[in-house]
Formats: sequence, structure tokens, C-alpha cells
Amino acid sequence: MVKPGSSPHSYEPKPSQMKDINNADIYFSIGVEFEEAWLPKFASQNKKMIIGNIAHGIEKLPMAKHHHDEDEHKEEKEDHDHEAHEHEEHNHDEHEQDSLDPHIWTSTANVKIIAKNIYNYLVKLDRKNEAYYKNNYNKFLEHINQTDRTIKKILIDTATGTKFMVFHPAWGYFARDYGLTQIAIEAGGKNPKPKQVAHLIEEAKEEKVTAVFTAPEFSDKVAKQIAKEVGIPVIKVSPLNPKWSENLIQLANAIANK
Ligand code: ZN
Repeated sequence: MVKPGSSPHSYEPKPSQMKDINNADIYFSIGVEFEEAWLPKFASQNKKMIIGNIAHGIEKLPMAKHHHDEDEHKEEKEDHDHEAHEHEEHNHDEHEQDSLDPHIWTSTANVKIIAKNIYNYLVKLDRKNEAYYKNNYNKFLEHINQTDRTIKKILIDTATGTKFMVFHPAWGYFARDYGLTQIAIEAGGKNPKPKQVAHLIEEAKEEKVTAVFTAPEFSDKVAKQIAKEVGIPVIKVSPLNPKWSENLIQLANAIANK
């Protein structure tokens, strides 16, 4: 539904896509923000369509926070009720400080769970082709494992906790999987203030960050400014690239400076 270059946080489906909804037997929902507003519309437009939650069973991480703004420290101290946020229904057009990270697909461990969920839905919907789905599911699992092994090999000399800088914090699960730390330039869905930019430049220098990652979905003005000050490259990598495996491998290579 959301192609690279569009933001799944604020996406509005095209009329042609709304037409496609009429022909779908199932909609796989991954729990990104635009779905909060649009899923009810999809459901009322095609009442026979199953809405499958493919994020089922994935434990979500808190959204990456920005640590440079004084005001935000107050909010960080507040107790976060994990259960209450699990089924959050409220609308928000940006990452709030206490929201959970929706970018679950940037992790091989999560993609395994997503694949299993999709497999289960397809088999339930089309039992007679179970063997076909099973075969492809197993092939895909092998592809995921291969991707994971490749990334681990690339990062073998990369120290645990190594920090990488991104504009939009879409790589939190990737960071978790491989013991890395994501530093987000964007703060709560907004461009950082000049004071925060100065901190980020300092941090990038101190932590010997090797590159700043940006995505075509967002403006790269601040990222370019930081990268120029630090003397490191800006690398464009979209978390929505359909070649997800090559995408994660590319990110690992850039972090490992290979
Ligand atoms: Zn995002």
C-alpha cells in the first residue's frame, strides 16, 4: 500500500488503491500509523475482506527518544504502562515520546514472525494449497536466516553498542538484533532545534559515527548539515525498500564501514 518515498505515518491511499480493496480477500496490517485511520474505512468498504494482523506476537520496543532536550527528560521519568500502549487507539500524526516503535520489519527476527503470520492466514484462507504455501514459507525462512548470517558476518568486528545516526528512527529493531545503538536526528517527528543539532554534531564526533542515514521519505537537510560538519557521508536508505534483505545488508555494510 505504501511505496518507498511515501510515509506510512501519514499516508492516504490513492483512489485506485481503494478500488483494489474491493477485490482483496485479505489485508495484511502491520500496525503503521496511517492504518489507524484507514483500516475502518477499508473494512466498511469490503465487508468480506479479512484484516490480518501480521505484527501479532512481536514485542514492540519504545520509540527511540531524543536525549538532548531538557523538556523531554521530564517525560522520560514518567512511568510507562506497557499494557496500556499495546493496543493504543488514539490518533497521532507523529511519533510521540511514549509511543511504541512501529518499524518492526527492519529486523530479521521480526520478519520471521511476520512471515509465519502471513503463512498462517494464507493457509486458513486457502487450505487446499497448504503444501504450496508451506514450501514457499520454508524457502523464505532460509532466505531470512541467510540474511541474518550475512549481517552477523559483516558486523563481526563492529563493537557492541556501536552508534549509527539516522534522520528518522526506523532502525530500532535492527539495532536491537545486532547490539547497535541508533541515534535519531528527528525528535518526536520534528526537525531538531539548532541547539539539538549542535549536540548531535558533538555526539557524532565523539562516538565516531561513520555515516548519517536518511530516507527518501523525509527531508535530508539537517542530516546533510550534520554530516558536513562531521565530515562523514550521507547515505540514503529507505526502510520501505521492497528488497528488504539487501537493504538491511547495505545498512550493515555502511555501519561496519565496509
Ligand atoms: Zn517511520
